Amino acid sequence: MSKFYITTPIYYVNDKPHIGGAYTTIAADVLSRWHRMRGDDTFFLTGVDEHGQKIAQAAREQNMTPQQLCDQNAAKFQQVFDTLKISYDRFIRTTEKPHEKMVSHVLNTIQNKNLIYSGTYSGLYCVGCERYYTSKELTDGKCPLHHKKPITLSENCYFFKLSAFQKPLLRLIDTNEWVIEPEERKNEVMGFLKSETLEDLAISREKVEWGIPIPWERSQSIYVWIDALFNYLSGIDWDGKNKKMPDYWPPDVQLIGKDILRFHAIIWPAFLLSLDIPLPKLLYAHGFFTVGGQKMSKSLGNVLDPEELATTFGPDALRWLLLSEFPFGQDGDISLSKFYDKYNADLSHGVGNLVRRTIALALKYKGAIEPPKAIDVDFKQMIEKAWKIYEGALDDLKFETAIGAINDIVTFCDKYIDSSEPWRLSSDDKQYQTIVYNLLEVLRHLSWLIYPFMPKKSNVLFQLLGLKTETKKSLSLGKQWGKVEFNNISQGDILFPQL
Ligand SMILES: [Zn+2]
Repeated sequence: MSKFYITTPIYYVNDKPHIGGAYTTIAADVLSRWHRMRGDDTFFLTGVDEHGQKIAQAAREQNMTPQQLCDQNAAKFQQVFDTLKISYDRFIRTTEKPHEKMVSHVLNTIQNKNLIYSGTYSGLYCVGCERYYTSKELTDGKCPLHHKKPITLSENCYFFKLSAFQKPLLRLIDTNEWVIEPEERKNEVMGFLKSETLEDLAISREKVEWGIPIPWERSQSIYVWIDALFNYLSGIDWDGKNKKMPDYWPPDVQLIGKDILRFHAIIWPAFLLSLDIPLPKLLYAHGFFTVGGQKMSKSLGNVLDPEELATTFGPDALRWLLLSEFPFGQDGDISLSKFYDKYNADLSHGVGNLVRRTIALALKYKGAIEPPKAIDVDFKQMIEKAWKIYEGALDDLKFETAIGAINDIVTFCDKYIDSSEPWRLSSDDKQYQTIVYNLLEVLRHLSWLIYPFMPKKSNVLFQLLGLKTETKKSLSLGKQWGKVEFNNISQGDILFPQL
């Protein structure tokens, strides 16, 4: 059995769960469900990042302890992830004691290798982001996220010798030992490493009341963003000391949004190299979306809320819609009206309508619908081709292509029904039964194919076909054509009501 370890970034617990994070997490969930369905030993890690001055401050304003605030907000994230049918194996919180202990151990190890030294840092600091910016990173002298002028801050701190890793990283990326996708993102990191000098990284701050202390100088705390990175190790229970890494290490896919590319493509692997820990197999940075051609913003009133969208379209359909609008690795545009159009085209008129038509035809025949003596070669080949495209697409994180393969099956069947005109035949006719059998077999395959995207609808479809979901045990059997006999078919509620 192969293992599959996938991570999303952990989300800042003081933020509300937003559509961007939902996008990353849903994509990771689709991959996780696909790998589980294929029989891989899968571990899906997500969670929240809970340290930092901002949390301490927000807690004070709300008359809470920082821990109470974290508990309350972490529960909110979990609730939204439940709504979105996120099947994580572990929801990590960076205030968990084993995580804090592990980070301390790791800092000691790096310190013992003389890769940490003390110094003074002075720079442009955004309080909102809790990070320093270089003047190049600012837009019109302001923080690109908060649109506020950063303050100049000078403080004692510890530095990590990031500069020592510039050449090793360049070599590893160039030789594809450190794999960054898509290609544009890889080129972006290569370009940066070739043209700029990597500076050492300030890793601690003074007087942060809500953070992990530097083990040998407790007046300093590790910078919240850095502590957060190590969740990928504590999330699979590495203690920071054991020479043998947990079985799931290294991650097979680390999914991120492109806004945190440098952090994950340069700083994170540098820390791992400093600890002699194998690098993740793939770092994949997806694109951003605009809403109706504009950047999402409160002032424009075009902020899309994942919970509201799940109420409007249903969580299953929302997952489908978010991943089908534009290619995953690229930037794209979404909007409510595009969602309505796609929902009606793909789901209500597409999959949903095919299910309703097929089951209506099947119910006209009273007996069990058995595989015909001569298998329909066109159907068998069509389904085999669709599976091939679908599997290749999911392995390459091309969700939109996998969805396209499903839509093509539906189109094929709609044409088949129209040209074979089953309504002209008597249900006792062998030809009628062959037509219905072909269509039912397609629905059975569809219930597998839609599962990673729409787990709940997939189960409903299995039930309508009279097949227990437990039969989903082996994909290799499920993928065969023409072996299953259909009994107990039923016409349930409309799968995707028109909106
Ligand atoms: Zn900021």
